[in-house]
Amino acid sequence: MEWFEEALHPSLTQRLSMDRILFREKTDLQDLVIFDNRIFGRVLALDGIVQTTEGDEFIYHEMLSHVPILAHGAASRVLIIGGGDGGMAREVLKHPSVSAVTMVEIDPSVIELCRTHLPSISAGAFDDPRLDLVIYDGAAFVEETNDRWDVIIIDSTDPLGPGEVLFSERFYRGCKRCLVPSGILVTQNGVPFVQDQQVTNSYRRLTPHFADVWFFVATVPTYQGGQMAFGWATDEIAHRATSTHAIAKRFQTAGFETRYYTPEVHVAGFALPAYIKILLA
Ligand code: SAM
Repeated sequence: MEWFEEALHPSLTQRLSMDRILFREKTDLQDLVIFDNRIFGRVLALDGIVQTTEGDEFIYHEMLSHVPILAHGAASRVLIIGGGDGGMAREVLKHPSVSAVTMVEIDPSVIELCRTHLPSISAGAFDDPRLDLVIYDGAAFVEETNDRWDVIIIDSTDPLGPGEVLFSERFYRGCKRCLVPSGILVTQNGVPFVQDQQVTNSYRRLTPHFADVWFFVATVPTYQGGQMAFGWATDEIAHRATSTHAIAKRFQTAGFETRYYTPEVHVAGFALPAYIKILLA
């Protein structure tokens, strides 16, 4: 039996049995492996870090897409930075209110290999006419584009390698510029129990540019160490205070099924445990 050992933390690793290896290769940018594991199903790992698994991807992709879109209430244009496996695009495109999705992914190999070996995650999203796929560095993209979006989702790798630039204050300032006034930025912000610097750094780099900066949480089993934090930043204070009742009405109107997200979980996600709130002090 060969084991995949995650190399994310110096003093904590997780091992997943590689019951079947489907692909392993260094792309131009990242070291990529796709394998089957009997608990999590098919797994994608980049540079020794689990990115997404068939078994629990629904938790991450549902929360990082439906919370900002349903809090916003009238999101039509959505920008995804990263998201190479296509799961985020799949969830965003479930919203009838969404007319256009731009997805900016730096590594085309991730897209091609996920389309081939992990088709259940994108589930046809790459063929949706509303999707505009851009192969580019997300940091450069937000500096150069003249377009504006209602919601921006940073579905990035961890702040290592090509993903590091997506956690900088310069990048967050660029995202702010690309949002309409009531727009919402959300980010993949790591697992505070083992990566507390990610929340602290993002909070410090976001607060100068947005009126409301907070986090919401969900537990994604393969992102080991407990609750995962998602960054939240907007100038429209009312968005985060949207009631469960209002969210439920919008969710019902949107008319699709979920396996993790509910209006109650949406609102409860913003209730941060004290050990995370302390990181924001
Ligand atoms: N769900 C995963 C997680 O939480 O870690 C992330 C999923 S997705 C695989 C992350 C994507 O970010 C990868 O496809 C990677 O190629 C992409 N990425 C990394 N750096 C980037 C950059 N600077 N611009 C655009 N995409 C980038």
